Amino acid sequence: VPVSDLSHDQAQVELPTLRAQLIQWGKEYYEQDQPTVEDYVYDRTYQRLVEIEGKFPDLVSPDSPTQRVGGQTESQLGKVNHAIPMLSMGDVFSPAELFEFNQRQQASTEVDVEAEYNLELKIDGLSLSLVYENGHLVQGSTRGNGQIGEDVTANVKTIKDIPLELSEPLSMEFRGECYMPKAAFAQLNAEREANGEPVFANPRNAAAGSLRQLDPKITAKRQLAVFMYYIPEYQQLGLQTQTQALEKMAALGFPVNPNYRVVQNDEEIQAYIDEYTAQRDQLPYGIDGIVEKVNDLDTQVALGNTVKVPRWEIAYKFPPEEEPTVVREIEWTV
Ligand code: NAD
Repeated sequence: VPVSDLSHDQAQVELPTLRAQLIQWGKEYYEQDQPTVEDYVYDRTYQRLVEIEGKFPDLVSPDSPTQRVGGQTESQLGKVNHAIPMLSMGDVFSPAELFEFNQRQQASTEVDVEAEYNLELKIDGLSLSLVYENGHLVQGSTRGNGQIGEDVTANVKTIKDIPLELSEPLSMEFRGECYMPKAAFAQLNAEREANGEPVFANPRNAAAGSLRQLDPKITAKRQLAVFMYYIPEYQQLGLQTQTQALEKMAALGFPVNPNYRVVQNDEEIQAYIDEYTAQRDQLPYGIDGIVEKVNDLDTQVALGNTVKVPRWEIAYKFPPEEEPTVVREIEWTV
């Protein structure tokens, strides 16, 4: 039944099934690193949940996947409390929806949003928090449920990309994306296949499965990499824009994805989307979209967050790829 025709009673019947299905897929994806459906199937189902809850706000429940950051902390890894929560991100599936989002944001009366955005590639990995004390790496953790993540300090110390010491003796947190380059992913899956082990569905799940190991020696063999993109306590460094934050992290010794761009209007945003949609396959790492961030950091803070996502950034997700992926191959061969 299309959501527009759905009655309150019908919604009440459908919602628990929809939520249970998404929670189950979330477990497979976030905890077991082995999804059984493709992302666009999850996204479509999630979108339906958003629409139904939007139509009947009295039916929103606190345990709904729309109200929680996906990801659990049920592994045997130690737990880390995120003083500043690690959130998810809203998404749109067409440039038109993105432009509408921007218009609404710029029309918001409470905050004066300058129409300047920093566009970045949406790296297909998992979020990572790194804490430094006096310039030395002391902690690495995953997002987990946003409030409590998993302690992967020993594991991140094996990742060559991650500096153990910064170029300045800073004490603060930095955030970014941990990912597995395409070549490393292909090699890992080939090895696993040869050993009769289950293959990973995609580089994102391979990265998550490799970072969330109890034995750091296994992580060390997996050729993980990172791109850093966020400094929660930017004020301490006197930074004003997201672009400056990226430049600062590069100067500190972090890998920063160089393909970011400051844009001021829809045409420039469209050009960036077109460019990276075309280049996507040639990049040595997976991207599943682009991320648009309000460039002014104080404006980001003023815009704030919902319970689940920042209001100052949004992802444009690429349409699903056409070739059959590993997930489907597994289904055919079982
Ligand atoms: P998300 O992964 O889509 O987006 C948010 C994340 O993007 C951030 O947490 C960050 O880690 C990452 N990111 C990458 N590049 C970034 C950049 N340049 N700047 C800022 N952040 C950047 O959101 P989510 O809530 O983690 O997960 C939802 C996604 O997971 C959806 O794509 C969904 O399809 C997929 N999923 C799939 C299944 C399945 O069964 N296939 C199940 C659950 C979730």
